[in-house]
Amino acid sequence: MNLNSSVLPLILTVLIGSGVKAQTLDISENLVNFNSAEGESLLLESEARQDYFPLSIQFVTQNNLAYCGVASIVMVLNAMSIEAPEAPEYRNYRIFTQENLFNNPQTQQVMTAEDVRRGGMTLEQLGLLLASYSVRVEVHYGSDVTLDEFRSLVVENLQRSDNFVLVNYSRPSIGQERGGHISPIAAYNEATDRFLVLDVARYKYPPVWVKVEELWEAMKTLDSVSGKTRGFVLISPSLSGNEVLF
Ligand code: CA
Repeated sequence: MNLNSSVLPLILTVLIGSGVKAQTLDISENLVNFNSAEGESLLLESEARQDYFPLSIQFVTQNNLAYCGVASIVMVLNAMSIEAPEAPEYRNYRIFTQENLFNNPQTQQVMTAEDVRRGGMTLEQLGLLLASYSVRVEVHYGSDVTLDEFRSLVVENLQRSDNFVLVNYSRPSIGQERGGHISPIAAYNEATDRFLVLDVARYKYPPVWVKVEELWEAMKTLDSVSGKTRGFVLISPSLSGNEVLF
């Protein structure tokens, strides 16, 4: 594009004047922004942060508004070094992407990419999509776990780097906009009793430290599509093919 020299300053003035820049939404006071001095300290003081590094290396932004579950699955499968399909955009290199995840016929039997694009996914579908690859999946409904059980299952997982946790929660319940959401949990801070959620909607919110009790409450909310509560999923290596436990 050729820009006339008299037009360019005008465009620059408009862009700067309207505050056009990458900008996430403000976060409410109950949450700690990971991108802050306090947020950084909470990670440095954490004694259950084994998942932070493998997940942060694979951290992606969801490709569309309904793809939080897809982005989260891709992060976990890549972090676990599960045998990945070819990604044509990277010639013959192999990595899970939010497109090629659905190339597997077993994955498509659960849901197609178009199904997810239209309506997102439930907790059960999250578990089944993960289990269409060679991993062991445990699905826990929020209605079935106490606060202590939730904390101890997740903290135990965060102390090992070869398994991962995805959480399905209601955003309004923790003071965010809007509806249900899915993202990985990457660390636990014991002193403040908070989990670090690596929010895959990176255009919207930064990663946040959320009180375990608030996340547990947000997980016990009803998903109107499934008629059940939201919850969390534990994913670990499997030596005997795929397996999903409810
Ligand atoms: Ca882990």
